[in-house]
Amino acid sequence: MTRDPRYDILFEPVRIGPVTARNRFYQVPHCNGMGYKDPSALAAMRGMKAEGGWAVVCTEMVEIHHTADVAPFVELRLWSDQDIPMLARIAEKVREHGSLAGIELCHSGYTANNLWSREVPIAASPMPTASYLYDPIQARGMDKQDIRDLRRAHRQAALRSKQAGFDLVYVYAGHGLGIFQHFLSRATNFRTDEYGGSLENRARLLREVIEDTKDAVGDTCAVPVRIAMHEFQGSAGLEPAEVEDAIAMMADLPDLWDLSLSDWSKDSQTSRFSEEGFQEPYIKGVKKLTSKPVVGVGRYTSPDTMVRVIRQGIMDMIGAARPSIADPFLPKKIEEGRLDDIRECIGCNICVTHDYTMSPLRCTQNPSMGEEWRRGWHPEKIRPKQDDRHILIIGAGPAGLEAARALGQRGHQVTLADRASVAGGRVTRESRLPGLAAWARVRDWRLLQLNKLPNVSLYLESDMTPETVAELGADHVLVATGSEWLRDLTGRHFLSPADYAESCDVLTPDDLMSDLRPKARDVVIYDDDHYYLGGVLAELLVREGHAVTLVTPAPVASAFTKASLEQKTIQARLLKMGVKVLANQAVSGIAADHVSLECAYTGEASQLEAGAVVLVTARRPLDGLWQALTAQGIAATRVGDCYGPATIAAAVHSGRKFAENFGNPPEDFLDIPFRREVTALS
Ligand code: ADP
Ligand code: SF4
Repeated sequence: MTRDPRYDILFEPVRIGPVTARNRFYQVPHCNGMGYKDPSALAAMRGMKAEGGWAVVCTEMVEIHHTADVAPFVELRLWSDQDIPMLARIAEKVREHGSLAGIELCHSGYTANNLWSREVPIAASPMPTASYLYDPIQARGMDKQDIRDLRRAHRQAALRSKQAGFDLVYVYAGHGLGIFQHFLSRATNFRTDEYGGSLENRARLLREVIEDTKDAVGDTCAVPVRIAMHEFQGSAGLEPAEVEDAIAMMADLPDLWDLSLSDWSKDSQTSRFSEEGFQEPYIKGVKKLTSKPVVGVGRYTSPDTMVRVIRQGIMDMIGAARPSIADPFLPKKIEEGRLDDIRECIGCNICVTHDYTMSPLRCTQNPSMGEEWRRGWHPEKIRPKQDDRHILIIGAGPAGLEAARALGQRGHQVTLADRASVAGGRVTRESRLPGLAAWARVRDWRLLQLNKLPNVSLYLESDMTPETVAELGADHVLVATGSEWLRDLTGRHFLSPADYAESCDVLTPDDLMSDLRPKARDVVIYDDDHYYLGGVLAELLVREGHAVTLVTPAPVASAFTKASLEQKTIQARLLKMGVKVLANQAVSGIAADHVSLECAYTGEASQLEAGAVVLVTARRPLDGLWQALTAQGIAATRVGDCYGPATIAAAVHSGRKFAENFGNPPEDFLDIPFRREVTALS
């Protein structure tokens, strides 16, 4: 296939200072939870982006000094020469495929708590640190010597970056995480010397560091600046007009402007709250201020939108973190005219949750993400089948669909059966809920791929029983039958069920997704699951006219969504819609007209009137069919939620893992099924 000439513009080279990008696809820096702990895995992941056609591939934030220590988060470090080989490996993997390697040098100022180095944090002005757990630490305000030292440290890190083989060496003033942003913003700079007060003074350090970096490495390396266009704090913080003034003051000083929003939750908004291109209103004024290339982000996955933003002069290069995670081969697919094959990011932020939980990056759409080195998985390729076994897969949810796709790609004959009339399992059901429509892409991409595989047949409305399975006579059965929500109070707070009268109107998420509704107007949603569903169902019921109280033993609504950067937005939306959030309370009993509550701290009992209750507590694996098949001696394996209920990302990964391993000798419980890197002893 050849590319549509409409997209030619995306493949024009772009000059960035002394280097040239081969096209307009730019993987902006993004965190990944691997950092200095999993450097080879990280290097392989970045290399994969380059193989997939991203002309620029950047690292995540790289601590430039031991006072820039962001533990417990796992990022990269460039504190001394000792760190150079690790970074050199990343640059090498990127350059191997003809792409430019960028490094995001970072000092995090008052957001670096120095928990590992035990240094006193430094900041533009003295202030409590911003931290993960409200650490009882304050940062000291920097004196003139500190500023000179910081400039020296940045310069040294730039020289080390050049030595490690990077082509772009960043000055970072974004996401509320870069100290140069802290100096630039009135919200974090209260200085009265020449580095505080007027915009010119607040921008002084940023300007000096850009000049230092260009002076140190600018002969061969480009120096981009990543800057926050908005801090969303009203006039107390940075707003686009002031940032534009700052950019105008330094217009052509850096080699590229990389624009984003601050903090990270504003920059990496989920599809529940924003559309593709959501940053355009904030960045569209910048290009006219500079002759240097401008990069912007906004979850761009559509080539037509990419062409539009280039043609409209909003940006010169398409920046992407999440779209490059969901599909490292996105540029190649556009280049080769294979638009159908683009695996579009669904905007769920599972990727972000893993940086937040300090575990290696993963992705709902791309199960090979983070597994390139550990397990040798490739987002586009898989080894051919080792035998001719015919596999029957029961359940076309995310686990079954991915297993069928990957086994089909290996060349196996696959029969995929589902009792539902539409494929997709939970993805189909959940994507009909408010704000989750983009999640259907998990199903749709896989169905499109299955259509191209003549060796895979999909049968809907096929309820499989041990008898029908035996009749089919497949060589192996993969059971991907999912899970169901419990109709009792078993969750994280109470680990055992509690009885209630059958006459009570009690519903589960499955009921609501099957269009059953509470009879009463006053509804309690009891959320002891703590991810998105409780909050989403509250939205659904309020929109339909119910009065909803969301009861949770956690201190906030949808507590885990802190890790997907959504918690504050979710709680604000619920409160604005009129949902009452009753935190720190567990539902301990259900009656026809009320629920009994128990304080999560004191155990004190109380009651809350409610005509109906929706229980979002825990799920039960639906593995009865697997048990029956196994009892009959039929070779069967469980994958996805029927093996262990978890995220959609986990189900997709589980299906892929089965397909990758099929034909291998069975895994021994005592063998680690992936490679890991163990710290070398000094
Ligand atoms: P997962 O997340 O593990 O992929 P889902 O719950 O999304 O699981 O999907 C499970 C799918 O299995 C559903 O579409 C359901 O209709 C289907 N299913 C469950 N039991 C059977 C069965 N006995 N025969 C056919 N399909 C089944
Ligand atoms: Fe996109 Fe979700 Fe994958 Fe992140 S995890 S890249 S948001 S699909």
